[in-house]
Amino acid sequence: MELKKEKRLKNIPTKASEKFRNFPMVPRVVFGNGSFDKLGEVLMSKRKHSEAPMIYLVDDVFEGTTIVERIPNIFCDQIIFVSANEEPSTMQVDHLVAEIKNNFQELPSGIIGIGGGTLLDLSKAVAILLSNPGSAAEYQGWDLVNKEPIYHVGIPTISGTGAEVSRTTVLLGPDKKLGINSDYTTFNQVILDPELTKGVSKEQWFYTGMDCFIHCIESLEGTFLNAFSQSYGEKALELCKEVFLTELPDNESRDKLMMASWHGGMSIAYSQVGVAHALSYGLGFLLGVKHGIGNCLVFQHLEEFYPEGVTIFKQMMNKHKIKLPTDICAHLTESEFDKMITIALGMEPLWENALGENWKRVITAEKLKSIYKKI
Ligand code: NAD
Ligand code: ZN
Repeated sequence: MELKKEKRLKNIPTKASEKFRNFPMVPRVVFGNGSFDKLGEVLMSKRKHSEAPMIYLVDDVFEGTTIVERIPNIFCDQIIFVSANEEPSTMQVDHLVAEIKNNFQELPSGIIGIGGGTLLDLSKAVAILLSNPGSAAEYQGWDLVNKEPIYHVGIPTISGTGAEVSRTTVLLGPDKKLGINSDYTTFNQVILDPELTKGVSKEQWFYTGMDCFIHCIESLEGTFLNAFSQSYGEKALELCKEVFLTELPDNESRDKLMMASWHGGMSIAYSQVGVAHALSYGLGFLLGVKHGIGNCLVFQHLEEFYPEGVTIFKQMMNKHKIKLPTDICAHLTESEFDKMITIALGMEPLWENALGENWKRVITAEKLKSIYKKI
C-alpha cells in the first residue's frame, strides 16, 4: 500500500506544550525464544531484600502450566492469577493494590505482568498505585502521576497491542475508559519471548494482531504523522502483511508479530491512533467489547476513512476465515447509542489525528450512529 507520506509528513501539530514531547522508552529489553528463563537473573539485582517480594500478576490461562513452574518464585514472592476475560478496571487495580498492601508489610521489590494487554496494563497500574495515594480512577488522564512507581516488568504472551512499549495503561473507570498516560507508566524492563504466544487461539491471535495492524494504518494515515512515527509504522505494517498475508513458518510468524507489536506501539507513541480506536472505546465502555475485536468490528466499516487499509484488512480476514460477530448494536436504545457516541467524540486527539483540526465539521453524532448501527 502506498501511503501519501510525502504530502503528509510534517511536525506534530499539537499544542505548543506538546509539540516536542520528551517521552520515555523501555530502557531494557530481552528478546528471543526461551528468554523467559532469564527472568530470575534480571530480577535478582532488583530485589531490595528477602522481605520485599516480587509480585507476579499472571493471566489465569497459565494456571497449572509449565510457564508458571518457570517463574522465579523465591523468598516471599507471590503469584496472583488474574482473569483476562474482562477489560481491566480501576476498581480491579484498587483491589489488587489493597490485597498486596494487606499481605505484606513492605512494598514489593517489583511487579511482573505476564499475559496480554490486559495483564500488562494491570501491572503498570498496580505498580503506579502502590506508590501513589488514592484510587486508580484519579490518575486516568494525562500526566497526573507524581511519584516513581514500583519497578515493573512486562512479559507479553500475545502480540499486537503494543502495551509492552507504551506510556499508558487503559482502564475502565466509573465514568470513562481512559488510560493512565504518564512518563511513569512505561515498563522498566520487558522480556519478549515469542514462544510464550504459542497457545493463543486463532481468533484471538487475529484480533490482537489486527490491533497492531490498525495502529499502523491509523498512525500512517493520520495528520500527526512524522518521520519518527513513520519509520516504526512502516516496519510494523510490513511485518503485519508478512504475518497475515503470506505463508511463514510458525516460529518466524510469532517472532515477526511480536516485533510488529513493538514497532506499532512505538509508532503511535509519537503520533496517535484514529477513527477505529475512538469508536471502539465507545463499544468497550458500553458493552465491554474487548479492544482487539472491538477495533475489528469498527474497522471493517471504515472504507471512507481508510480505504486501502480496509481492503487489506478484508483480505486478511478472508485468508484466515475469520467471521466477526454481527448484530452487536442491533438492540441498543437511543440513549445507549448516545452514550457510546459521547465516549467516542470525547477522544479529541484521535479525531484530530485522523481528520485534522477541523474534524468537527466532518464528524457528527449522526455519522457515528450510522457506523455503530452497521456493527
Ligand atoms: P488480552 O490480554 O485481553 O487476552 C486475550 C485473551 O487471550 C484472554 O482470554 C487471555 O487469557 C488469552 N491469552 C493471552 N495469552 C495467551 C496465551 N499465550 N495462550 C492462550 N491464551 C492466551 O489480550 P490483548 O488483546 O493483548 O489485550 C487487550 C487489552 O490491551 C485491552 O484491555 C486493551 O485496552 C489493552 N491495550 C492497551 C494498550 C496500551 O498501550 N496500554 C494498547 C492497546 C490495547
Ligand atoms: Zn489499540
